[in-house]
Amino acid sequence: METILVLIHTEGGGRLARPALEAVALAKELAGDGFVAGIVGEDAGAAANQIAACGAARFLTVDGAEFSQPRYATDAAAAEALCRASGATLIIAPGTSRWSRALPGVAARLNGRVDTHATSVGIENGTPVITRWYYRQRMEGTLTRPQRPWIVLVEGGCAKAWPGAPGAASVEKVAVIPPAIRTEVTGVRAPRSDQQTIRPDADLLFVAGAGWTKPQADGKTHLAEAEQLILGFLNRTQASLGSSKSLVDLTGEGQAVLTFMTHLNQVGQTGSTPRHPKGLAACCHGEEPHVVGWRFINERRAINKDPNCGWARGKADVVYVADAFEVVAKVNALLDERMR
Ligand SMILES: Cc1cc2nc3c(=O)[nH]c(=O)nc-3n(C[C@H](O)[C@H](O)[C@H](O)COP(=O)(O)OP(=O)(O)OC[C@H]3O[C@@H](n4cnc5c(N)ncnc54)[C@H](O)[C@@H]3O)c2cc1C
Repeated sequence: METILVLIHTEGGGRLARPALEAVALAKELAGDGFVAGIVGEDAGAAANQIAACGAARFLTVDGAEFSQPRYATDAAAAEALCRASGATLIIAPGTSRWSRALPGVAARLNGRVDTHATSVGIENGTPVITRWYYRQRMEGTLTRPQRPWIVLVEGGCAKAWPGAPGAASVEKVAVIPPAIRTEVTGVRAPRSDQQTIRPDADLLFVAGAGWTKPQADGKTHLAEAEQLILGFLNRTQASLGSSKSLVDLTGEGQAVLTFMTHLNQVGQTGSTPRHPKGLAACCHGEEPHVVGWRFINERRAINKDPNCGWARGKADVVYVADAFEVVAKVNALLDERMR
């Protein structure tokens, strides 16, 4: 019988973000009402109240000024203390950047093991089993490990978030002497939210291909128009923006490009594999190395002038053989009408 700890951290103001709530729901699914919740970070007690009704048998917290900022030394010390205090054999944690940095070191300190990027955790015949993808999402592996404690970092979006109402949790504070601190977070630099084009929670992924930068019917390129159409579509729909490799590679070649596009937007074999219910590609050919990044997109559509493009060969559910400049301009106008 495993003792399960769900190890989570707070965001600003003692709030738990969606990845933490997904990990809580997963722990409950595995253990019913018998797991331990361990919370690190600013106002961890308030976070415990947020999940008071989740069924955890114990709520252990480490908070205080030293533990509010993400930092390897303090995060690892806090997580190690919670793992030891809980006596956990299986530790479920969200695969946030904060935990992905700190928890492998914690596994080493506990003489345990860690696995990252897990997409599911189950118990089969009393043994924990996880799944994860290998070789850029082409093969799914199922694995288990005999060593304990076993820390499993779970990918975001693979479980439903714990939806329960807040309450009053009975919290056990775990005292941790902070290690020597050399790193101080002095601020956060992030793009304005309307400039942030990667939105993992969006219902729609909009992928732009290199066709947006190519000469069009009049023999000229129309970059300014392309930018305005794509950004207009994103602002109206709040879709997440993906790109083909060809389009983002243009930046490195010093060619005229869409200024808001970076390599972080690239989808595909050498890019990302985002998860969205729907996807729409425009001016993108739909070649295999790009389309493998669409593995987790449930419903796929594409707009391409070429009726023989890759999407038309069984890779999309619907292909609109049309000029994407015209289609997106029309869609933006229809969306404006609907919002009026
Ligand atoms: C090892 C390896 C790894 C790779 N990894 C990736 C990867 O991770 N991601 C990735 O994307 N690619 C990857 N590629 C590259 C991939 O094979 C393709 O070269 C790339 O995806 C093509 O990008 P594209 O479709 O935007 O451009 P293009 O092939 O140039 O296609 C542009 C399309 O736009 C259409 N078009 C032009 N104007 C319009 C218009 N007005 N309206 C509608 N359609 C229009 C054209 O018909 C054309 O189909 C990889 C390749 C290799 C060899």
